Amino acid sequence: MKIIRGKNEMRAWSVERRCAGDSIGFVPTMGALHDGHASLMRASVKENRVTVASIFVNPTQFAPHEDFNAYPRTFEDDCRIAEDMGVTAIYAPEKDSLYPEGYATYVNVEGLPDGLCGRSRPIFFRGVATVVTKLFNTVLPDRAYFGMKDAQQCAVIRRMTRDLDFGIEIIELPTVREPDGLAMSSRNRYLTPEERGQALAISRGLFKAESQMKAGERSAESILKTVRNEMAGLNIDYVELVDADTIQPLERVEGRALLAAAAWVGKARLIDNIQYEVPTS
Ligand code: AMP
Repeated sequence: MKIIRGKNEMRAWSVERRCAGDSIGFVPTMGALHDGHASLMRASVKENRVTVASIFVNPTQFAPHEDFNAYPRTFEDDCRIAEDMGVTAIYAPEKDSLYPEGYATYVNVEGLPDGLCGRSRPIFFRGVATVVTKLFNTVLPDRAYFGMKDAQQCAVIRRMTRDLDFGIEIIELPTVREPDGLAMSSRNRYLTPEERGQALAISRGLFKAESQMKAGERSAESILKTVRNEMAGLNIDYVELVDADTIQPLERVEGRALLAAAAWVGKARLIDNIQYEVPTS
């Protein structure tokens, strides 16, 4: 597995692969890899001739009070996982190379970032859209893989890719969970054993609500109440039912609905969601 640090070297490598007729799959990550990231890599390796995974803790998506400095950095372990998954190359650029002195250009997707996570993290999606644009321009992928755990991020990336004519296929894969239901996250490393137990209330609440929806419940109020009751012991950021594409609040479950929750547990801000598509017949 090749490790590439320079953006010019990365682009030259990708151009060469494309000229050779190889399809390029791309998995952007911030490292501290777990089985959720591995599932994206596995899919990309299967569906493309070569796979690039990036490891970059992106400073522009963190507000000054957030955990940019504390974010886990486990580069050697990450390389081992990526290599085991069959990744062809790791792209791990330096912060100053992506954001040199005087950097001034940002990608703003309008509307979609306003609700859910955007409310408590107002610069987050601008940072994500900007870095993903920069990575797309360097890695030149045919397909890019994202996790549905970050459902609002998926909506933003989908829209950005369409609006800016990237011509890249965006593939979204299901959330990988611990056996007890906790959504895997690099930030789970912040949890003490006691906090980890408390954090289970999030997935438990979402699963209860999912059963309700499967049984025919359509009232957002009743569904949200179920999740909020289950999460009552946590410091809730939001629990919301929205349309999965527009991220607009729903009063009733319809179309492809996204039931999303976020809460602070100890030092960690955790997010999770389930998506439910109302059967058409
Ligand atoms: P991150 O390193 O947290 O920026 O995540 C990199 C990619 O992995 C994003 O597309 C995430 O949505 C995805 N991802 C993170 N956690 C999970 C998970 N538990 N299951 C599936 N994908 C995930």
